[in-house]
Amino acid sequence: MEAFAYPIAPVPRTAVLVPWFSNAFSNGFSSGCVSGILRPRPVRIFRKGWGSDVVEFAPAAIAGTWEQWQALLRVSIPSLTHAVIVLWRPGQERLTETDRDRLWDAFRVPVFEQVIGKSGELFASECEAHDGLHLKSSRLPTDNEYVDASPCPCGQKTSRIGCSQGTAMLRRIAAYAR
Ligand SMILES: [Zn+2]
Repeated sequence: MEAFAYPIAPVPRTAVLVPWFSNAFSNGFSSGCVSGILRPRPVRIFRKGWGSDVVEFAPAAIAGTWEQWQALLRVSIPSLTHAVIVLWRPGQERLTETDRDRLWDAFRVPVFEQVIGKSGELFASECEAHDGLHLKSSRLPTDNEYVDASPCPCGQKTSRIGCSQGTAMLRRIAAYAR
């Protein structure tokens, strides 16, 4: 099983609400010790999902499935100041603009989507430019996706799926096919 990968640096206190990842962290915090100074691990996995232990942890960012987020839309989470991270499995439909608006209205923090494989592997990840998800693994099937290879403002060179232009293009193709 692989570790959860936070979309951008630095990593704030993050609660992960699914048991899809290992407890080891790939972001350099695994020892909990940086330059001899003990620091709390910023990423914690809550295998049972949302609960009072998560509230106590006071996460600045939370990663969970869309199903979990839909339930959390009605919950006030004052500590949530950095990011809403929506986790998908390959083949699942991703967020619509309406879904994103609902998350924004509820939490007022940036939204990042990630596609995660069975072993916790990061398949695709939204960056701070918020225009599509960068492909991180060749194991993610992209047959039904528009893959955009144009440069991303974030500086990453990998191709993206779900870009605004690609979504518009897929809609046109779908309309044409009817
Ligand atoms: Zn990017």
